[in-house]
Amino acid sequence: MKKIAILGSTGSIGTQALDVIRQNPDIFSVIVLTGQSNADLLIRQAIEFLPNSVVIGNEEYYGKVKEALHPYPVKVFAGEESLSQIVEIDEIDLVLNALVGYSGLKPTLNAVRAGKPVALANKETLVVAGDLVMSLADQMKVLIIPVDSEHSAIFQCLAGERMKNIEKIILTASGGPFRGKTREHLKKVTKEAALNHPNWKMGNKVTIDSASLMNKGLEVIEAKWLFDLDPTQIEVIVHPQSVIHSIVQFVDGSMKAQLGLPDMRSPILYAFSFPGRVVTDFPRFDFKVCSHFTFELPDRDLFRNLELAFEALSKGGNMPCVLNAANEIAVQAFLEDRVSFLGMPHLIERCMHSVSFIKEPTYEDYVNTNIETRNKALEYLLLENTEY
Ligand code: MG
Repeated sequence: MKKIAILGSTGSIGTQALDVIRQNPDIFSVIVLTGQSNADLLIRQAIEFLPNSVVIGNEEYYGKVKEALHPYPVKVFAGEESLSQIVEIDEIDLVLNALVGYSGLKPTLNAVRAGKPVALANKETLVVAGDLVMSLADQMKVLIIPVDSEHSAIFQCLAGERMKNIEKIILTASGGPFRGKTREHLKKVTKEAALNHPNWKMGNKVTIDSASLMNKGLEVIEAKWLFDLDPTQIEVIVHPQSVIHSIVQFVDGSMKAQLGLPDMRSPILYAFSFPGRVVTDFPRFDFKVCSHFTFELPDRDLFRNLELAFEALSKGGNMPCVLNAANEIAVQAFLEDRVSFLGMPHLIERCMHSVSFIKEPTYEDYVNTNIETRNKALEYLLLENTEY
């Protein structure tokens, strides 16, 4: 029985992870659940799975959760600090980090420091401080198993291979809802249109990131750290059917790809059961229904976020942290109709040019860069609203 701590259990990945556990009660159990503000769902989940502990991030809801779980043998904690510390519980066998954004960094570092393997769905952890996370994981001999479908694909393709034999990796992208659209069209797109992803069912942040191709940009940086690659070894190709989840090309020219229907339960289950595999009744891909795959190059001019991510990665230091923080503000502002779709990359680029660059950042430097960038981005939004 593998005891799993789920950080972010009320979000899209969290609820799908609980689906996976619900279907496999003899091999997986829940030891910790955490949610930010959705107290009602967290309470329902806790009553169903009876974990050792729950954490509600937003302390306002502590009383409500505590009272609702009073009749049950479940400990209740609240606040940011508890959320970071809960991963240190002795009995935890695996931590699933399904938090959104920068907030995922500290719990990941704590889990690794406590020697817990991490199933990582929070790509921002590696975008912000991939160097610190991976060197700590190395030092602690802790496994980081990617849950992002593309990185899970690469991880699966690399089973039994030597890392030095990788020539390059090719991340596939669906292209999102605005693939093939003109600049004129993108100028006026609404958040409703951006939230309507053609293939994947995901949370709001990652769905907007997918529409702007920032998601792919963040994934390029994530891949660099996970697989210890040079930026020149990472390519992105648009594959609108989202069946090939990514490809590894080896030094002998041979390529391996991992395929399947777009269903996040699949990479979640792989991360939970690695190095094994578990029987499922998930729908299977059917060649009779989808008889052809297509590929095209991404438009890095129009979807500038992807270009900015490559720039941040080659610049290195705290630049990916700047990119991420500016993007978190941009996405939030877009969801609140305070910035246009094409205004997002402008705002991000402006932050990349103005925040102080640090070549070899410490953890504190990343914390400060994150704050400085957010403040700058908010300031630009307020001062020059019309420009965006
Ligand atoms: Mg992905």
